[in-house]
Amino acid sequence: MRTLAILAAFAGFACPGSARPPASPLDDDDRPAPTPRLDSAGVVTRWLDRRADPCTDFYRYACGGFADGAEIPRDRRTWSATEVVVAANEELMRGVLEQAATRPGDPLGAYYTACMDEVAIEKAGLAPIQPLLDTVASVRDARTAMHAVVALHAAAVFPLFGIGPQQDAADATQMIAALDQGGLGLAERAYYLDDKGSLPRTRQRYLAHVERMFALLGEPQAKAAAQEVLRIETALAKLHQDPVVRRDPRAMYHRIDVRGLERIAPAFPWREYFSRLGVASTAVTVNDPAYYAGVAKLLATEPAWALQQYFTWTVLRATASTLGKPWVDEAHTIVRDLAGELQVPPRWRRCVARTDADLGDLLGRSYVEKRFSPEAKPVTVALVTYVLGAMRSELATLWWMDDATRGAARDKLDRVTYLVGYPEHWRSYDFPIGHDFARNVQAATRFELARQLAKIGKPVDRGEWQMTAQTVNAYYDPLLNEFALPAGLLQPPLFDPSYHPAANFGSTGAGTIGHEITHGFDDEGSQYDGSGNLRDWWTPATQKNFSDASRCIVDQYSRYEVVPGLYLDGKLTAGENIADAGGVTIAHAAYRAYKAEHPVEAAVDGVTDEQLFFLSYAQSWCAKLTDDLSETMAHGSPHAPPRYRVEGVLANQPAFAAAFGCAAPAKPCTVW
Ligand SMILES: [Zn+2]
Repeated sequence: MRTLAILAAFAGFACPGSARPPASPLDDDDRPAPTPRLDSAGVVTRWLDRRADPCTDFYRYACGGFADGAEIPRDRRTWSATEVVVAANEELMRGVLEQAATRPGDPLGAYYTACMDEVAIEKAGLAPIQPLLDTVASVRDARTAMHAVVALHAAAVFPLFGIGPQQDAADATQMIAALDQGGLGLAERAYYLDDKGSLPRTRQRYLAHVERMFALLGEPQAKAAAQEVLRIETALAKLHQDPVVRRDPRAMYHRIDVRGLERIAPAFPWREYFSRLGVASTAVTVNDPAYYAGVAKLLATEPAWALQQYFTWTVLRATASTLGKPWVDEAHTIVRDLAGELQVPPRWRRCVARTDADLGDLLGRSYVEKRFSPEAKPVTVALVTYVLGAMRSELATLWWMDDATRGAARDKLDRVTYLVGYPEHWRSYDFPIGHDFARNVQAATRFELARQLAKIGKPVDRGEWQMTAQTVNAYYDPLLNEFALPAGLLQPPLFDPSYHPAANFGSTGAGTIGHEITHGFDDEGSQYDGSGNLRDWWTPATQKNFSDASRCIVDQYSRYEVVPGLYLDGKLTAGENIADAGGVTIAHAAYRAYKAEHPVEAAVDGVTDEQLFFLSYAQSWCAKLTDDLSETMAHGSPHAPPRYRVEGVLANQPAFAAAFGCAAPAKPCTVW
């Protein structure tokens, strides 16, 4: 997927029950009294630390109170401004589901109830996944192994690689099949191949975890099985593309069709594969042809027993969360090690997440009714309109674009579309829901796979949302030249229609709309035209100017030490860091344009509107992360940790320095 989710690093489990708002840091006598007007203007006053110097440590100034008062709940990996919204959303969904559970025949209620029924889940044991295990047991040689891969993919379990629909990068009107690398239990190839930081230790823990899962299954040779899994996944990791390479869409697009696959990997039954998955079209792109040649070779040369263990492992890690407590607990050990989430989230929270994932639009209706007021939409649309207008002015004067490129950029900007709040048409779901939780999840997963694959060979549907309305996230899709702002993100303390406009421009305008729209015009966006075709519209001169300008940002962020001894990967994060900078610059200009046309309060409780803008931006990134998560992010995430998304950006912003009376930045990096 080409979706660039700005907050993806924070998505995941959330927990209203154990989630508490950060304790107020303002209890000390020497601190100013709470200023409720400022709070209703969009700044959380108890999150501030006004003793800090905004010029030298603005993150502390904006978020010091948050950091002091917040504890990461044991069943979460972060506690942050975003997580506050996630937690509130979950609480609401829990209420909706518990209500639904009292109505006989309500699919939401039935799904949630089956998920909550731990007694039935324990009693079912491994029966729900036995058919999958039987498929794996049928592997005797290369040929039967390939048939097992076909059968597992048809059941929405994905060893070796994945499949989905994708807009054809060369013809933005059509959906084709896209195969992508996959099949690893750990997130990135680096976990298998690098020795940086704690990676070797993580590998050992992973190996022990896989062994324990096999032991749970009753495998007498659990240790040997785990070693085979790690060996095969390491071989796959060597074939995987590097995450930096994967930011280049051309490195990811190879339209070779089924015939091309048959040439590269002739032994694999591709025709059978596509027909079993119900894909009639032969139009296929792959991330990297060499990967599939490598996969076919692996299937042809690995001993049957080793392949069986690898497939078994793939089944177990796909389904463990739907099985009994020993499985859930063991599956969580790796989340604990990698993300520092110490405890398994309570059952109800996992069931809310599961129902949300599988019946999202049914929940979305209730969510929007309760949490998205009629005023929220026009206020958001105004934010979007002013940010797009500011982008237009920015393009007119941008120093690194030459005039030919500027014209193409303007044309692309004219064609940007956006979705706000919730879909015009709610989806329906058609799969059997019974009392067996694991089977319900399998049915839901297969239904979703079939729905996705049915798009292949058809025209692109531009009105479709790629996230549900209640999702606390946003995206820009360069293939559609479209961005989406779900209602789930447009919530306090990140946004409220009643906030001071400077605050809404600072958080949602900069951190979300501005950031996302910038992606359409940066080095990634430069490769897609206004219709979403993969076509360069930058001249070589513009390209060179941009890459020269980026180097400053790469160097700046490479100097940030994420955890002792581990520095941020300035190159990997450059695209996102530049979008952060662009978001703030453009949203700030948008706010000024708004202000020129609307009366706004010049200051609230002594805080000027300009200060409100930057405070609100910074506070949208207030966060506490475990060291484990910080390190995990540093190894593979294109996003910098929250502190640097504030510090890194504001270090280059003269308007910020002016707002707080600080010295202007000496040698700012200016891309936007
Ligand atoms: Zn981004």
